[in-house]
Amino acid sequence: MNSAALPSSHSDPSVAPASGERLADRLADFLSRVSPRGAVRFVSHAGAAWLGYDAEHFRRGDDLLSMVAEEDQPALRAVLAQAGKLGRQALNVRLLRADGVSLAVTCRVLHLAGAGERAELLFAAWELGELVRAGETAAPSIAADPVTGLPTRPHLLEQLEELARRPEHAFALLHMDLDGFQKVNDALGHAVGDRLLAEAAGRLVAVLRASDSVIRSGSDEFALILPGAANLDAVLPVARKVLAAMQRPYILGDSRLHLSASIGIALYPEHAADGQQLFRCADIALTAAKHAGRNRWSVYLAEGAAQSSRRVVLEEHMYDAIQNGEFEMHYQPICRAATGEIEAVEALMRWHRPEEGGISPAEFIPLAERNGLIGFLGTWSLRASCHQVARWNAAWGTRLRASVNLSPVQFRQGNIVSRVREVLGESALRADCLSLEITEGTLMHDPGEVEEVLNELRGLGVSISVDDFGTGYSSLAYLKRFPLSCLKIDRSFVRDLETDANDLAIVSAIFGLAKELGLRVVAEGVESERQLAILAGKGCDQVQGYLLGRPVSAAELTHKVESGEWRLAQ
Ligand code: C2E
Ligand code: MG
Ligand code: MG
Repeated sequence: MNSAALPSSHSDPSVAPASGERLADRLADFLSRVSPRGAVRFVSHAGAAWLGYDAEHFRRGDDLLSMVAEEDQPALRAVLAQAGKLGRQALNVRLLRADGVSLAVTCRVLHLAGAGERAELLFAAWELGELVRAGETAAPSIAADPVTGLPTRPHLLEQLEELARRPEHAFALLHMDLDGFQKVNDALGHAVGDRLLAEAAGRLVAVLRASDSVIRSGSDEFALILPGAANLDAVLPVARKVLAAMQRPYILGDSRLHLSASIGIALYPEHAADGQQLFRCADIALTAAKHAGRNRWSVYLAEGAAQSSRRVVLEEHMYDAIQNGEFEMHYQPICRAATGEIEAVEALMRWHRPEEGGISPAEFIPLAERNGLIGFLGTWSLRASCHQVARWNAAWGTRLRASVNLSPVQFRQGNIVSRVREVLGESALRADCLSLEITEGTLMHDPGEVEEVLNELRGLGVSISVDDFGTGYSSLAYLKRFPLSCLKIDRSFVRDLETDANDLAIVSAIFGLAKELGLRVVAEGVESERQLAILAGKGCDQVQGYLLGRPVSAAELTHKVESGEWRLAQ
């Protein structure tokens, strides 16, 4: 998800959790595996961050009970002790945060495996209530900025100049911007905006070491200076922690807000010779992170220019390519996990350039999003796939569904509901045979507006899937508020499954929780029989991947179905 070609920021090589725990670590919910006595075996990254700790803070055997308020301990103890017998239970507790604030949460305790003393339980919390402050928080020392108590931009430049006088002392600068802050400010007023900034500032301070600095460099921008961080190995874990901390819900009065952040990273002396220049590098990287879709970090790339020239060429050719009919739809089966029968097809766009062959949608879709052609391409892809699937259904007497990807940009263009209505009308595809795939990023962008559009789409009879679940801001709590039908689990997670198939109880628990929210679970990128068997056994409803069928042209799909190679569900 990061724009620089660097190792993923999602998995920390120093901890190697089992595969179930890896999925748990990607969610923004509090998930912990415990014994009936409350001895902790695993706390998810987000769970630790909720409490203001690193994931590494917790050790096997730590006491879950000590993480909740004393008054709530007896109730939790009783629920844990009975979970093996009673299955799933819910209760309200207050979690104790490192900074003395307690978080009221609704949690669920589920039985995962085993019996008696040896049982394994899942403690899952996804509903946040109030923040309860215990005692005073420390008064800010050099409170240059009245809102956050942090030093401001002049301090930043001074400090950068100071540090950059000694090239032998490497350091990193992270320039961070809160995604969507302006909307919060506009919608809820400056008082709420200020409280949000103060909370974000507090989280940044909590994440960093005492020797690091946090500076408010602009209205919703913060600069983080990490002395001694000479390379990306030192910086990326911090960037990851910062992103996770910013993603935790903000509870401000009656509002519960979800934001994310974008980070630009620059290293001294590797990227710049002085403080000013370093700041510019971090800023360029920040812009790249925002363009790449926000909620990510990006590292300053000196060779960025080379990448952008290919971008320019492709962007220019896109106009002609549309005229020349170089775009085509391919279709990939989505099958019932239990039987392998095809229930739906995902429509995937292809661009065949005569000069260089196929270009991946992963490369050209972001360009189309930037140059505005996505509206055109997106409508074309929707129309082509609805017409095609309607023709197949008419010819074969089936109810095959079309699953069509919608870009976040397309979603925000405002006419998506009328487009869908129009295309359904002209193609005569049944509305319940169309599913639209959106990303977590779309949901994040402007939850109120998105909810309204999704409700209108649902009103047309169309269903909505969340694509690539586990790669963005992934939270079961967050999904609950939207009218969604289906969760597509990202293939990077499916790939992990096989490497450690021993500890999958937590995976089926997560699938179970998704179902509790009324969601169908689809696994993407299934490539082996073993993955298929594991997923089918864990309550996954549908599967998609090379094992079941690669994306193929409409003609090829027709051939495979009519020759009996691919079987459709009736
Ligand atoms: P996606 O929606 O997650 O689509 C699934 C991608 O995974 C497809 O890549 C598919 O070919 C690939 N895939 C499927 N099974 C396997 C497998 O078993 N192993 C591996 N390694 N890969 C598998 P593709 O076609 O390159 O598309 C990439 C992305 O481009 C899509 O990801 C989607 O986000 C976007 N995209 C494609 N077509 C459209 C479109 O018409 N509109 C929009 N907005 N986005 C599109
Ligand atoms: Mg998709
Ligand atoms: Mg996907």
